[in-house]
Amino acid sequence: MKTKTVELVATPREPHFVGDGFRVHNFIPRGFRLDMQRMDPFLLLDYNSPFTFPPTDTPKGVGVHPHRGFETVTIAYQGKIEHHDSHGGGGIIGEGDVQWMTAASGILHKEFHEKEWSKTAGVFQMVQLWVNLPQKDKMSTPKYQAIVNSEINRYELENKAGIIEVISGDYNGTKGAASTFTPIHMLNAKLNKGGKTVFHFPSDYNTFLLVIKGNIVINGKEEVFTDHLALMANDGEVFEIEAMDDAIVLVLSGEPINEPIAAHGPFVMNTKEEIMQAFSDYNSGKFGYLE
Ligand code: MN
Repeated sequence: MKTKTVELVATPREPHFVGDGFRVHNFIPRGFRLDMQRMDPFLLLDYNSPFTFPPTDTPKGVGVHPHRGFETVTIAYQGKIEHHDSHGGGGIIGEGDVQWMTAASGILHKEFHEKEWSKTAGVFQMVQLWVNLPQKDKMSTPKYQAIVNSEINRYELENKAGIIEVISGDYNGTKGAASTFTPIHMLNAKLNKGGKTVFHFPSDYNTFLLVIKGNIVINGKEEVFTDHLALMANDGEVFEIEAMDDAIVLVLSGEPINEPIAAHGPFVMNTKEEIMQAFSDYNSGKFGYLE
C-alpha cells in the first residue's frame, strides 16, 4: 500500500457567529482549496473551537431555519445542544454525543445551547458537518440518528496508544453505529501523548483530519497543531498519526459522490431549478411548521 501524503494544512479562519450561540471557524467550503468539489461528499465544516459563554437564562443559538438535500452531523465535545424540528423531533446532544440528521426532502429546525447548561454555561466546543446526499436520496424522508456516547463503538489501540471511537464506517473491523447513504468513515481518535496509529482508506476517498485537542505529527514529518485541519492527498491509502500531547483528532474519509452540486444557503441540490423549487416549497409551507 502507498502512503497517503498531506496535501495541505489549513489554519482556522477568523471566527464568525451562527446565530448568537455558535462561534465557528469555517473550514469547508471557504477555506483555501477546501471547496465542496474538492471535499465531496463533505459540503460544510464549521468548528466551534473552545469558547467560553457566560451564564444566561435565555439560551443562545440559532432560530428556526430549513435544510434540504443533505445531512447535518453535530458532534458535541464540550457543552450541550438542544434541538427541535418540524417533524416533532427534538433532543439534547450532550458531551461526546453525535446527532446525525438527514434533512433530505426538507425539515425546519432550531439549535440552541441546552437550557440547564446555559444557566452555568462555560466552555463550549462542537463541530457541525454537512454531508451531501446522492441525487437519488435527496428527496427521501427526513430522519434522525441520535448516537449517545455510550453507544459509540471503541477500538482499543495497542501499547496504550489510545482509543478510536467509530461514529460511522469502520476502523480495523470495529463498525460505527451511524448508517450513511454513501460510504463515510467518521472517527474520533483519542490518543495519549506519544501514541501512534495508522489509518487505511481508499485513495480516491476524500480524507481530512481536524485536530480538536493537542498537537499531532502525520507520517513522521508534518506537524498539525490544535484547531488546524489537514487535508490528505488522493495519492495513497495509508497514513500514520502520532500524538505530541494527549490529543483528540476527528478523522473523516468519504467516497466522492461525483454529481453536480447546486448550493444556496440551507439547500444543496443538483440543479439551480431544484434550488428554486426548494425556496418555493419552503415559502409555501411545505417544510412544515415550527415555533
Ligand atoms: Mn441547521
